[in-house]
Amino acid sequence: MKIAKVRIRELQGTLKHPDGPFWEERLIRPVDIYPEYHAQHARDANWQPSSSTDTESTVVLQFLEIETDDGLTGLGGPVTRDTATLLHTEYRDFLIGHDALATERLWDIMYRLGVHNRKGVPMFAISVIDAALWDLKGKFLGQPVHRLLGGPTRDKLPAYASMLGYSLEPDKLADRAAAFAAKGYAAQKWFPRWGPSDGREGVRKNVEMMEILRSSAGADTDIMVDAWMSWNVPYTLDMAQRLKPYDPRWLEEPVMPDMIPQYTEIRAASVVPISGGEHEYTRFGIKELLDTRAVDLMQADTYWAGGISEMQKICTLCSAYDIPIIPHGHSVPANVQLSAALSPAGVPYVEFLVKWNEILQFFFKNPVLPVDGWITVPNDPGMGIEIDPDKIDSEREFTVD
Ligand SMILES: [Mg+2]
Repeated sequence: MKIAKVRIRELQGTLKHPDGPFWEERLIRPVDIYPEYHAQHARDANWQPSSSTDTESTVVLQFLEIETDDGLTGLGGPVTRDTATLLHTEYRDFLIGHDALATERLWDIMYRLGVHNRKGVPMFAISVIDAALWDLKGKFLGQPVHRLLGGPTRDKLPAYASMLGYSLEPDKLADRAAAFAAKGYAAQKWFPRWGPSDGREGVRKNVEMMEILRSSAGADTDIMVDAWMSWNVPYTLDMAQRLKPYDPRWLEEPVMPDMIPQYTEIRAASVVPISGGEHEYTRFGIKELLDTRAVDLMQADTYWAGGISEMQKICTLCSAYDIPIIPHGHSVPANVQLSAALSPAGVPYVEFLVKWNEILQFFFKNPVLPVDGWITVPNDPGMGIEIDPDKIDSEREFTVD
C-alpha cells in the first residue's frame, strides 16, 4: 500500500468563550529578562487563536492528511504554521510512492536524509508524518494504535490539569484550584510569572501562589510548578527550599534546555523532584538527559520529539533508567494511545492542557477529553480522531507562495 497523495488542510473556525478573553495570563519566558518582552500580555505573545475578541476567537490550524492508493487516509495534526510550511516544501512530494505501513523505514530515511533536521521544527514535521502514518496503519488493520503498540495496559488514564492561561490573581487562583480538584483531577500544574529578574517581590509571589494552591486544592492534590526554562541554578534551588513546605510534586524546566550540566546540578541538590525534556528531541537527545541524571521525570512531546515510532524508543529508554515519562501535552489523542500501551509505573499521568486543548482539539468530532479527571482510551481504529465538518467556517489547501 503506497502513499498516493499528501494534503495539508488549513481550517478556520470560531471558538466561543462567553465568560471573557480566552487567555487570562501567560507563562514566564526566558526572554522576559528584557523589559519590552516582560511587559507583553498573553495576547501579544503571538499565540493561537489568530484573532480574538473578549467573547470569541478565530482558530486557524493546519492538518496533515496522507492518502494511500487503497483510498485510506491517515490524519495528523494540528501543527504549527512553520511545520505546515516545511511539510509543504520538503515532504509533500517526497512521501509519494513510499510504503505507507513501513513507518520505521520511512522515519529512518527522513532522519538520514536531513542531517540538520534532528531538532526543532524539522523534527515536528517528521513527528506529524509518523503520527499520521500510525493513524493510517490502525485504520488499515482495524485496530486502535494502542493495540498495535501492545496495549491496552488499562482502559482509562488519570489526567492532570495543566492550567496555562488562567489568571494568577489570588482570588481567581484559589477558585480555579478548588474547582479543578472538585472536578476529580488528582493533579494540577501551574505556571508562575516570576523569576530571577523579578527580585524579592517575585520570590514572594511564587511562594504565595504555591501557598494558595495547596490550601485551595487540598492536601491530596499533586501540585506542579512549571518555570518554563526561565529560572537559573541558585534561584531554582532557593525556590525548591521555599516551596518544599507545600509539597510540590515537581518543578518543571527550571533552566534552558541546553543547560544540561545545570539540570544535573539542580537535580542533585533540589529538595523537590525536577522534570524536563519537552524541548528535547529523539532518543539521542533524551538519552543525554538520562545519562547525565538531569531529571526525575521525562516530558518528551510525541509531536515534537519524533512521533509514535521515536516515542516508543524514548519510553523504553526511560523505563530502563527507571525514569517515568509523561509526554508533553500538545497532542493528547496521540499521547493517550501511546500511554495506554505502557506500564502505569512508567506513565503515571497524561498531561491535559485545559485551555490549549480547546484550540488543538477544536476541529475534532470526538475530542479526547477527561471526565472527572480520567481519560477513557478510545477504541476506534487508528488514533481515534476525525475532523468535524460542522466546526469549519472555511478551508483552503495550505500552500506557500
Ligand atoms: Mg512545561
